Amino acid sequence: MSKSPRQYQIITNKITAAMIKSVSLDSFFESVTTYLKETFNLFDCWILLSETTSNQINNSFNFPGGLATARLLELENQEPKLLATRSEIESMGIPLDTSRDSWQSLAVLPLVYNNRAWGAIALIYSDEQKQWQEIELSCLNNIANQCAIAIYLHILELEKTATENLNQEIFRNLDYTFHECRQPLSAILGLARMLNEQIYGTLNQKQIEYVQAIITSGEHLLSLTNNFLDLSKIEAHKEELFLERVLVAEICQASIAIVQESANQKQISLILEIEPEVNFCIADPLRLKQILVNLLSNGIKYSEQGSVTLRVTKDNQGFWFSVTDTGIGISPENQQKLFEPFAQIPNSYNRKQKGTGLGLVLSRNLARLHGGDLTLKSEVGKGSCFTLYLPFQQSG
Ligand code: ADP
Repeated sequence: MSKSPRQYQIITNKITAAMIKSVSLDSFFESVTTYLKETFNLFDCWILLSETTSNQINNSFNFPGGLATARLLELENQEPKLLATRSEIESMGIPLDTSRDSWQSLAVLPLVYNNRAWGAIALIYSDEQKQWQEIELSCLNNIANQCAIAIYLHILELEKTATENLNQEIFRNLDYTFHECRQPLSAILGLARMLNEQIYGTLNQKQIEYVQAIITSGEHLLSLTNNFLDLSKIEAHKEELFLERVLVAEICQASIAIVQESANQKQISLILEIEPEVNFCIADPLRLKQILVNLLSNGIKYSEQGSVTLRVTKDNQGFWFSVTDTGIGISPENQQKLFEPFAQIPNSYNRKQKGTGLGLVLSRNLARLHGGDLTLKSEVGKGSCFTLYLPFQQSG
């Protein structure tokens, strides 16, 4: 079945996108101007950028300027300008001094993409009264469109790099701050726990209440600190896994034991189902437990009642650990945001929970370090199912 002009355009745009990723913008433009000169027998060919565009790409490109570009680039109607004679060129405010004796006709095509003119291609002819044919114009328009896409993608890439650099800088600063916090925080927690044990004297009811509040808040801060430091280590590619043979039933039971108390408090039942053929897997036991505990405690945290089930199955690719809850569920648009750092979905239920917004992103990163992944299926009001996939691997 033949394709529509729009479908062909989309394919051409995709090819340009792929190409611009592998070459620099200036070499792409150099090729464009060289081919245009050859194909259309041009005296010269320039690619000009509008002022906004050249500011956005920090003037890192040195296209020949000088032409009354500002004037030409004010192509508000975004239509090509075809100036067939020297007087028409001059009427556009372009001076034809002795260095431009050969200029007889000029075509200026705006580089339009996303409703914006990013610049223009200037095609300079030494033929008098150049007549442009329909087919030539259509080809030139197509090329101009590809150049505009190339600029657009280049700017997107620059913006992305700038954001990544900024994120790295933020990560470095926060990393230092959290490191500095960890020791005093541990000291505060240790002392508060001692007070709570009442070894050095009994406390009255109010004092017990306050000390327990210090412990709860301290533990929350410490878990935020530890999660952040773990994540930062992974981001800096400094995290190492210690892979070993892990008994699946043992690690699942140990993970469940950690969250049992909070499940009891909410009267949520914890169910463990392990397929008979699942015996042991190769993983970093500490990290695997960290992921499972995080998923289980989220299941409990975000459920009012019902159950949280940890199920482990195995197929020819690896192991699948799924944690299913009967909780509040997550809407499709929020599912996209969950794996971003500090993503806490704003809802009234969430505000009641103590969270760090780092657990899931950390868990997914740890899963990926194992060569696996963490995925989610959820329906608002019905519950969520997070699945950790661990591929088969060799022990270290
Ligand atoms: P937090 O420490 O805030 O729980 P996470 O990264 O573990 O951080 O989770 C991020 C957000 O994802 C939570 O704040 C919550 O909104 C949502 N979430 C995580 N697990 C569940 C779940 N089982 N059910 C519903 N929402 C969840």
